Amino acid sequence: MVTRWTELGLTTLREAPSGIATERRRLLVRAGLMDPGPSGTYRWTPLGQRLVGRLEKRLAWAGLEGGHPREVLTALGLDCRAVAVASLPDDSAWLYPCPDGPDEVLACPACRYAGEAPAVPCGGPTGAGRGGSGSRPGNLRAATAPAPRSAGGAAVRRHTPGVRTIADLERFSGVPGGRQIKTLFYAIESGPLVGPGTGTATDRTLVAALVRGDRTLSEVKLLRAAEDLAGAVPFRVAPADREEVLRATGAPFGSAGPVGLRGVPVVADAEVMALSAAACGANEEDYHFFEVEPGRDFVPHLVSDLREAVPGDPCPECGTATLDPLRGLLVIGDGPGVKAGPGDLSWWRLRPGPLVEALAEAGRDEAGLAWPPGGSPFDVVVIPVDTRDPAQAAAAARVAADLEALGVDVLLDDRDARPGVKFTDADLVGFPVRVTVGPRRLAEGQVEVTRRRTRETRAVPLTEAAREVALLLGGG
Ligand SMILES: [Zn+2]
Repeated sequence: MVTRWTELGLTTLREAPSGIATERRRLLVRAGLMDPGPSGTYRWTPLGQRLVGRLEKRLAWAGLEGGHPREVLTALGLDCRAVAVASLPDDSAWLYPCPDGPDEVLACPACRYAGEAPAVPCGGPTGAGRGGSGSRPGNLRAATAPAPRSAGGAAVRRHTPGVRTIADLERFSGVPGGRQIKTLFYAIESGPLVGPGTGTATDRTLVAALVRGDRTLSEVKLLRAAEDLAGAVPFRVAPADREEVLRATGAPFGSAGPVGLRGVPVVADAEVMALSAAACGANEEDYHFFEVEPGRDFVPHLVSDLREAVPGDPCPECGTATLDPLRGLLVIGDGPGVKAGPGDLSWWRLRPGPLVEALAEAGRDEAGLAWPPGGSPFDVVVIPVDTRDPAQAAAAARVAADLEALGVDVLLDDRDARPGVKFTDADLVGFPVRVTVGPRRLAEGQVEVTRRRTRETRAVPLTEAAREVALLLGGG
């Protein structure tokens, strides 16, 4: 049965309600695909659900046929960037760039590399590329622990009353964050080949992770480093609690440092080992070490890449350019959504909300939305100019039925409304193709076919209309 506008209960709005941040969302609300809910939330209307369902089905099919997410996105006209995400294999996450998008990644202006900050390998090109183990952060791991430096001198221990944070120490001593050593305690949970949800933690090992004071630790990089450190199969790292730290180090929380630290394995970020005359906690309240020389005053068990990447870091793929922030919509990635692809090995997940927004962003114009064929709630709308004219109503119903018989998703606008209202709504909702059944053409046995994006219109014989439209949709 052909879907009719009146039974769909679709209502469009001339104006969007206030307080909607982006034009694409204002259009999605006005076109009746989304309803704003309480406190900035949105929910799909039946029309929006229809589009989501079509996209999910399309992606699942592509997955079953061994297709690539890139092919689906390209077919939908979206120029997306593959994004390295720590939790996912290569080519599992895709970002549609747009300046007001909610997701931010780091991207190379010279090559197509992009990655989430915790996943981007630091320390220059790894040579791993993005094939094989490329999404793995490049561990600059020493085969053995680095040899102690035998230079003379020693770290200087000084009284630092009330100093608790990196910023405190910078204010107190003038040593910038970039020359301080931040010591973070983490518990590594590991067990004999168990993973999240499949077993329980059998072992909980405390480690001290060192990064520069002005850097952020990447937990996913620490997890990978822990694999080398523990020899077991770690499946989780979590910040250690106060009692654990006190028990293991004898030092109160927040005053720890690697100099003189006993009984806890130490993993240092490669940048920390490059510091000289550094400052760090002295494992005693209100005391810090200064003039610290890594390698002389402490020797970590492992040196690795532990920090999150930042804008300005060299691109790990080409090495010739530095990374810039890039905002957009993560349309395929981690989290809830439809898992597509053959078997358990595939991890690409459609994120329906962002994908619908990206399609809306890519195709919109001053009249409304403009969906690509196959990425639209309905691919065709059939509009009789005057629904009360039995000849027009019958011709429109026939074209719609013919289209449905050819497997085209078609909506028949059976409203008793002025033609201008129906045309405006067709443009606003953004159906890729409109078929207009009007008195003048119909007298010659013809209807008009209009493409939404180009406004290109031509007259075709009523009997040929469905086939012409199907060809048009197939050819994009
Ligand atoms: Zn690059």
